[in-house]
Amino acid sequence: MQVRILGAHNSQSRTTGLISILVDGVVCVDAGSVTTALTLEEQRQVRALLLTHRHYDHIAGVATLGMNRAGTEAVAVFAPAEVLEELTAHVINGTLYPRFDERTSLGEATLALTAVEALRAFDAAGYRVVATPAPHGVPAVGYQVTGPDGASVFYTGDTMGGLDAAWEAVSPDLLIAEVTLPNRLRGTSKHMAAADLESELVRCKELKGALPRVLVVHMTPAHEEEIRREVAMVGQRLGVDVGLAEEGMTVEVLPGPSKGGVSPEAVEGLRAVVAAAEQKAALRMLRDLSGQFAEWGSGRLGTGELRRRIGDFHAATHQPARMSAQELVQRAARLLHGGQMGKDEVPEALRREVELQGEVWYGGTH
Ligand SMILES: [Zn+2]
Ligand SMILES: [Zn+2]
Repeated sequence: MQVRILGAHNSQSRTTGLISILVDGVVCVDAGSVTTALTLEEQRQVRALLLTHRHYDHIAGVATLGMNRAGTEAVAVFAPAEVLEELTAHVINGTLYPRFDERTSLGEATLALTAVEALRAFDAAGYRVVATPAPHGVPAVGYQVTGPDGASVFYTGDTMGGLDAAWEAVSPDLLIAEVTLPNRLRGTSKHMAAADLESELVRCKELKGALPRVLVVHMTPAHEEEIRREVAMVGQRLGVDVGLAEEGMTVEVLPGPSKGGVSPEAVEGLRAVVAAAEQKAALRMLRDLSGQFAEWGSGRLGTGELRRRIGDFHAATHQPARMSAQELVQRAARLLHGGQMGKDEVPEALRREVELQGEVWYGGTH
């Protein structure tokens, strides 16, 4: 999954954009910068828009997106029911902007509105989404978005904290959290300061056992450097990667082991092994081979000898080698020594991968 930060702030200037997060170019969470940061062509690739609440910094691009989508398939817009009512009453209301949720003089409706409820999962353009409660003084939610590859990103939305119900419902591989205020202004508005983020992360760790990488958004531009320093100290104290997001940043998010997923690199390595193997016998041989990879890794087996055994493996499974022994050795090294998994885990990871893909590699059709 690729997460692209279109806007990372709560206010707009030449160098700061209103909050918007784009997932794989397809699902956009909050609309602050959806039209200012994307080309027309990119805007036409967006298939779902998730809105957290009604505040202007989160909905600023809704009307212009509705306009730019004329003549294309409507964007699926998800938001709490109150937010949709406010949009059609005050923004795309036929006075400020056309009712883009209906047929207009420009053509068919370009925004297809759907109300969401907190803690109910739904599908948005093939992504599994869960809306989470976000205490913020107005109807508001956060969203966890899980991609077809199993990777998840959770964005808190605007909130003053108190996210236990959210932590129970999510298990993100990337956490995007708001920090709007420096600590000296903590409690002056319904937003978090670094100290609130720290309490929430401690709580999340208690409930989930571990913390993912954290990106901070929704900074007040005038306080950004203060927030940056305070957030860095939170990261140091908790031993977790916490940093400020910035406009234009992209982050590759990998599915974590907590979901039984494996990294794309490991999957690639496993696929290569699977491709060179066949049916049930391959699993047994693979187990032997993974032991030999480990021996090779610890220096007990020479590279030449390992290549010869891989050659034997190819021959014994009656498969033409789909990749050279050299390539396989390199991939195996990454798999076993890249910190992704140990030698005993390789066959198990392979089975998990089989389950993940929903395909039958062993004992049946292929
Ligand atoms: Zn906001
Ligand atoms: Zn807000």
